Amino acid sequence: MRAADVRAAFVYRLPDAGMPGAAIVERAIRSLKEACPGAAIFVSDESAGSAATVLKEKGLVEQLRAVARATLSDEQDSIALCFDYYAFLDPTLYVEARRRHFEFLAQYSYSENVPPGFLPDLISKELIEQLPEELNEDLRSFVFRNIDRYDAELLYFDPDLRQHRLNLSGATGRSRALVESVLQHNPELRYSQLQEFVSAHPESLRPYPSCIEVELTSRSPVTPVYWPGAKSARNADLPSDLLEGLLEDVEKNAFYRDVSFIFGGLGEPLLYDALDDVLERALGLPAVRQVYVETFASGLSSGRVQAWDGLGGSDRLNVIVRLNTLDRKRYASLHGADMLPAVMEHVEGLKNGTYRLKLFAEMLRIKDTDDEVGAFFDYFEKSAFTPILQKFNTYLGAVEQRRVADLTPLHRDFCWHLARDLYITADGRSPVCKQDPFAKRSGLDLREHSIEAIWTAGQKNHAASVRGEHEVISMPCLECDEWYTFNA
Ligand code: SF4
Repeated sequence: MRAADVRAAFVYRLPDAGMPGAAIVERAIRSLKEACPGAAIFVSDESAGSAATVLKEKGLVEQLRAVARATLSDEQDSIALCFDYYAFLDPTLYVEARRRHFEFLAQYSYSENVPPGFLPDLISKELIEQLPEELNEDLRSFVFRNIDRYDAELLYFDPDLRQHRLNLSGATGRSRALVESVLQHNPELRYSQLQEFVSAHPESLRPYPSCIEVELTSRSPVTPVYWPGAKSARNADLPSDLLEGLLEDVEKNAFYRDVSFIFGGLGEPLLYDALDDVLERALGLPAVRQVYVETFASGLSSGRVQAWDGLGGSDRLNVIVRLNTLDRKRYASLHGADMLPAVMEHVEGLKNGTYRLKLFAEMLRIKDTDDEVGAFFDYFEKSAFTPILQKFNTYLGAVEQRRVADLTPLHRDFCWHLARDLYITADGRSPVCKQDPFAKRSGLDLREHSIEAIWTAGQKNHAASVRGEHEVISMPCLECDEWYTFNA
């Protein structure tokens, strides 16, 4: 009787994944053939040409079943499953994964900590036959959620670089840019060398901003005590030509569904005359993943929200109401304006609606309102709003400390904001990071510099952050507790 083995390799690609370069495809197929000698190679589309069998079935489950029917006989026989083209499939990791998969009679084996692109998942015939017709989540999540029913082998390999959120699967434009960069610098890269690569070439991880926060206007009906400089009047609106230049740059240079916009900053975006047009324009860009509007909601009528809901791509629009409290006196003292009744009228008008866009009610986690968290969440239960808590930020000591919990990182790797974010003030300037919200410590002017030039200028700070040279960054990073806050 023959022993169970990996009889097939399957490259599953999402329909909107875009085309990989020929070099990536060729390397990935070659690596699969070397790692799984004798295995038949299947791809879910025609991107590999004649180098693999193209599956005509639709959807991951049907396709896995087709591969299983064609190649697997023993219950433990398995498929090496890649979620796109793995140009850096690591044979050392694969040999160990395969050994453990068969030794422990696993039905599904995968590594949670190795970034996509180095190691195929292994799935047995037995599990493929038990999968539901349709999966409403990704396969790993499904298996993990049902871990009491399926034998899953979760693999861990050093180093653990999850903090970088690397992806070398080739499944997205950003991932393919990273793969191309690695191919250029170290075409024979093994997973064990990845940390070294990241330190030597941090620019590879930063091809374009993935989150762009735009302060459309610095005007606001409130003067929050928890924001810096709130008492000094700023009355700037972002000039339309600068905004247009930004949108054009995203349209031209960003990857597909890779950039999120936050229209927020320290102003009220509803006061920006062209906001509705800006939202329509941003949602219409293929590169835009999500759009967030952060508002105090004094002008957020249900008619306006319904109009936004009718925009193309409104399922990617998120409206965050900066509410913070349900108590009128507290609201007035925190925001310098007795505006809560007017805001709540809008909230009540929206609360029971059904929308494609998403509504959030935000509460800043501060000692002033800590006794209200439960009531705040209860109030929005079963409503159109999802309540969320926001971490308090002193903006590097610019405002009085009001936090409830100390979230200062115990271990500092690198600043997530330097790696991903671009912040633009209503004055048309871009500081090193959002901790300098008026671009006073640093900043480049959009009138004088292209988005590419501004992003490239931030490279040296990011490189220093990745290498632990925090003292050379033009911001006091070691005094900051916003390293790992995640915007969008
Ligand atoms: S760690 Fe430094 S770069 Fe990052 S948000 Fe804080 S001050 Fe800005």
